[in-house]
Amino acid sequence: MAEVTPSKAELEEAEREKGVTPAEIEAWMDRALEMAKEALENGEVPVGCLMVFNNEVIGKGKNEVNETKNATRHAEMVAIDQARDWCHQHKKDLEEVFLHTVLYVTVEPCIMCAAALRLMNTGKPFQCIAGYRSEEAVEMLKTFYRQENPNAPKSKVRKKECSK
Ligand SMILES: [Zn+2]
Repeated sequence: MAEVTPSKAELEEAEREKGVTPAEIEAWMDRALEMAKEALENGEVPVGCLMVFNNEVIGKGKNEVNETKNATRHAEMVAIDQARDWCHQHKKDLEEVFLHTVLYVTVEPCIMCAAALRLMNTGKPFQCIAGYRSEEAVEMLKTFYRQENPNAPKSKVRKKECSK
């Protein structure tokens, strides 16, 4: 799964469709990358994401696979759970909110997360901005795979997030 930095045209399309400006994308991506960094520091595959609805972060996640010893705790799954809680707390309709939510994720979602995101949304494809500033994200992944992970055997680590 190759990440592609969105072209100017794609950014303009995102802006038109969701009212997201390139400056906002940059700012949200900064925070997603911060999450990825935290994951790296925790010995997790460095992936981070944010779910933004009406300029508000309703879910954020970083990989918690090793911490929770649960191979499905990818950043996106963590964020989806938080967004669901948010909807519940604010008595909002999940589908309606997800329809207008933008996911900012440091690397392209893997097949599991992509499927989960698709299921959360009955309408249009989920708006996902991934791979923006992909060089930094890929650098972090390289750093992770270069180092020995004290928390997990290598074979287990390799299977996770977004196979490179
Ligand atoms: Zn995933």
